[in-house]
Amino acid sequence: MSRRGVLTVISGPSGVGKGTIIKRLFEIEDNLYFSVSATTRKPRDGEIDGVHYNFKSREEFEHDIETGEMLEHATFSGNYYGTPRSAIEQRLSVGKDVVLDIEIQGAKNVKKMLPEAVLIYILPPSIDELKRRLIGRNTEDAESLERRFKTAYQELHEAPEMYDYFIVNDVVDNAATKIKDIIEGERCSKNAMQDVLKQILEEAENLA
Ligand code: ADP
Ligand code: 5GP
Repeated sequence: MSRRGVLTVISGPSGVGKGTIIKRLFEIEDNLYFSVSATTRKPRDGEIDGVHYNFKSREEFEHDIETGEMLEHATFSGNYYGTPRSAIEQRLSVGKDVVLDIEIQGAKNVKKMLPEAVLIYILPPSIDELKRRLIGRNTEDAESLERRFKTAYQELHEAPEMYDYFIVNDVVDNAATKIKDIIEGERCSKNAMQDVLKQILEEAENLA
């Protein structure tokens, strides 16, 4: 009997470094599955369809919503983003640990459906540094920058109520190691170990 997989949700304001940290996390911990989201936003330079996102038209995305293929979805900065249902529950049930990179509404919905999910929020060292990073990434036009900053400030108000852990992304390696350590701890949680505990109890009862 194996333990259940740990579902880790990672959120944080646009440009804080989620993608960068998650890339590092997968270099230092290979026993994880990254859930590739679907989105209607256009690919950035270097983004690969099926690796960073499944890039879709609005029609395709809306079709996936209607057919129930999305575990959750949200609109962020004028585009749809959503988590495919199929890969996740099946993996958790066989003890695979799953990582999601999703915004706050999505995190809220995931927590409602799967209350055992572990919610981690990534913070910038300062708001000035967050701005520097998002502008420095050079992927957004002025309008998108404005929308993303506005959303960041709204998220930052809501996050303290919702998330279980907060990690400041000062140094990428340190932030990635902290996530790795949290997941390692959660692998021993009551929820993750429930099937193992049940089996031991059954064995003990047979002895009694
Ligand atoms: P997000 O996925 O949260 O939108 P990214 O991972 O794309 O953010 O990072 C935004 C920018 O900040 C990128 O240019 C990235 O190289 C840079 N960055 C990420 N983490 C750090 C850090 N700890 N120190 C300095 N720059 C960082
Ligand atoms: P970006 O366009 O910068 O890649 O992502 C924008 C925001 O969408 C980020 O906050 C990211 O976490 C979020 N996001 C990515 N995939 C999903 C998803 O499947 N569902 C939800 N709700 N948000 C997502």
